[in-house]
Amino acid sequence: MVVARNRNGQILINETAIETNVHNAVTRLQPGTELFAVVKADAYGHGAIQVAQAALRAGATGFCVAVLDEAIQLRQAGFVSQPILVLGLTDETKVDLIAKYDITVTVADVTWLRAAARLKHELRVEKSLKFFLALDSGMGRIGLQTPTEVRDFDVNLQQMQDEFDWQGLYTHFATADSPDEQYFNFQLQNFRAMLAVIECLPRYVSVANSAADLWHPVPEANLVRYGIAMYGLNPSGTAIKPPFSLQPALSLTSELVSVRQVVPGRSIGYGATYSVIKPTWIGTIPLGYADGLRRSLQGFSVLVNGERCPIVGRVCMDQMMVKLPGSVPVHTPVTLIGTDHGETITLQEMAEQCQTIHYELACGFSQRLPRVYYQTNLATKESR
Ligand SMILES: *Cc1c(COP(=O)(O)O)cnc(C)c1O
Repeated sequence: MVVARNRNGQILINETAIETNVHNAVTRLQPGTELFAVVKADAYGHGAIQVAQAALRAGATGFCVAVLDEAIQLRQAGFVSQPILVLGLTDETKVDLIAKYDITVTVADVTWLRAAARLKHELRVEKSLKFFLALDSGMGRIGLQTPTEVRDFDVNLQQMQDEFDWQGLYTHFATADSPDEQYFNFQLQNFRAMLAVIECLPRYVSVANSAADLWHPVPEANLVRYGIAMYGLNPSGTAIKPPFSLQPALSLTSELVSVRQVVPGRSIGYGATYSVIKPTWIGTIPLGYADGLRRSLQGFSVLVNGERCPIVGRVCMDQMMVKLPGSVPVHTPVTLIGTDHGETITLQEMAEQCQTIHYELACGFSQRLPRVYYQTNLATKESR
């Protein structure tokens, strides 16, 4: 999709906020513990390259992505020396690309190792492949599930040692963002039982996404996979307060491209779901669901001159209408996410309206919206 640079509608990314969020997390790490910035899905819609740069400046030492292509994108953008871990499973037929770009893949069973070893020979890939082992302690997604499986993996790996470079292992918690700690503790127990049967642990042991890092320190781990909190978003939504303030990096702004008084008897938008009963000032914003602004935002608000104005009628593909308190000039700025004249609309609030989580909205903003980067000195750095 083309990037609409000649339309007033953009995602603004505060790089200083990202740096501050990473800095605050790095400051809290135990000695010897590292933080990898999770920049999958174009850094949750924030832009992978710029976020990766900001994270490095603030003390991150590596990256996590979801798929091999995202890892290659980072290498090609000039991140040549940092470890890049692909969190999803990569097809074993990609061994040449994995080696060529020096990517660390996730391995979830011995079958993959055997297949990859065979393909390495066929394709004459000399380099040993870096990998993390996924341990499924209760997420039910990928990885080994029992100490017996882990033992078996360890033994088999020892026979393929020249082919592979076992960099680390990780598990992923399903409820680290919940005040109820029961399932978290169950997973931790399972994880520890699997760790215990490994003869010689690899360099990295990782249990923490943002939520686990903020609320569940685990002493035997030495690598944090820091995603959502880096963007300044509370992993729990509003359920638990973070131990330090998170600064949202993303805002979304546009302008009114049309302002008119609509006469009684007319309706607004597809389906004529909003009827005008008395003369009403209606403003049109040149953004819609093709930009990732969902139809379920009907009834939500945007900020015009710091005032909340309701979105009336259905959100169209490329435009939406709001009810204004009165006549305002065309080109008046509109804030859909962020702060205007001291009033704020958060991504969390928008997610609640859409009955989803901020993660989903952030990575759902389409490529049509330009990402504009800025830095500020207003963000305050917190230290211990
Ligand atoms: C996405 C992901 C993370 C990052 O999670 P956040 O909640 O954004 O911090 C960490 N680990 C794995 C395996 C993931 O898939």
